[in-house]
Amino acid sequence: MTYTPAPRDPKQTPVRINLLSDTQTRPTPAMRDAMARADVGDEQIGDDPTVNLLCERVADLLGKEAAVFMPSGTMCNVAATLVHCRPGDEILAHESAHIIAREGGAHAALGGFQITALPGADGQFAPDTFRKALHPRTRYQPPQTVVSAEQTANIGGGTIWKKTDLDEVVQIARSNGMATHMDGARLLNACVASGISARDMTAGWDSAWIDFSKGLGAPIGGVIAGSRDFIDEVWRWKQRLGGSMRQAGICAAACVYALDHHVDRLADDHANARALARGLSQIAGMQVQQPETNLVFFTPDGAGVTGDRMVEALRNRGVLLAMMDGRIRACTHLDVTAAMIDETVGLVREIVRGA
Ligand SMILES: *Cc1c(COP(=O)(O)O)cnc(C)c1O
Repeated sequence: MTYTPAPRDPKQTPVRINLLSDTQTRPTPAMRDAMARADVGDEQIGDDPTVNLLCERVADLLGKEAAVFMPSGTMCNVAATLVHCRPGDEILAHESAHIIAREGGAHAALGGFQITALPGADGQFAPDTFRKALHPRTRYQPPQTVVSAEQTANIGGGTIWKKTDLDEVVQIARSNGMATHMDGARLLNACVASGISARDMTAGWDSAWIDFSKGLGAPIGGVIAGSRDFIDEVWRWKQRLGGSMRQAGICAAACVYALDHHVDRLADDHANARALARGLSQIAGMQVQQPETNLVFFTPDGAGVTGDRMVEALRNRGVLLAMMDGRIRACTHLDVTAAMIDETVGLVREIVRGA
């Protein structure tokens, strides 16, 4: 069976509060204005000044030699493993990692890689779990080539990896001749919440990327950074995957705008997430994971409503959120206000009362 997302039903209640994902953000008028005014060229031959500016900005932000603009975060992950690994190689990642469950099997389909799923609480594996999963280089075991960590860990609850754990993972990988890859879809959320710079957070990681189409509010794009040699190879895969673009400066302008205007405000999303968690946890029986960034996971079963029922009942009241791996995920972002959070808590209360 082929999975197709449900098309929008025109008879459905219009969405007033969209907590489905931070990918749902719409470019603001000021961002659209920056896009309209963008200086552009041919990106594929390195001639788009706005794309080049964006790549310089991100390389500098992450403390790497070079960077490349990609159509999506998924393509950042896929191109990175294609550069780091050869067919038959083993990648180590947390069992809830996006590269395992949410990229259409790309790493196996395109690279012939196998991914070992490491266990651990809150979307993170302990450095020691990683250490214990390493095996000697023998003829009959797959070469362990790269370790990947999500900062923040999405399905783990938007949790922030401690800098000391990141450093330890890097050190273990290094001493075993492995490359390190950071899936930084929400890296800047981790940086804003922790006060640790993106440069420090990614120090020692061979490749790292940030997504612009999530909390940063741009319509399209991710930027991956690393050494100049690594980025040269990523460029080849970007071409092979059909991801080279032309006047992409139109999109890159939105990303540059986001770097200038939408980073510090991620703190507002985190405050809204905390307010949502606080409100929900005051409802008897509700199980709520305390958010560290902009994702709030909760389970209403203890309050007498199944997750699926709750999602549907909220949908009928114009509030969109999602079931994710057995829990409800609410995601705060640019288009979600504090008033919407209060309203959502009120609606959840009402649904629980009616159950
Ligand atoms: C969203 C996400 C991605 C993929 O990014 P897209 O831009 O949607 O392709 C990868 N990793 C994590 C952790 C994500 O949340």
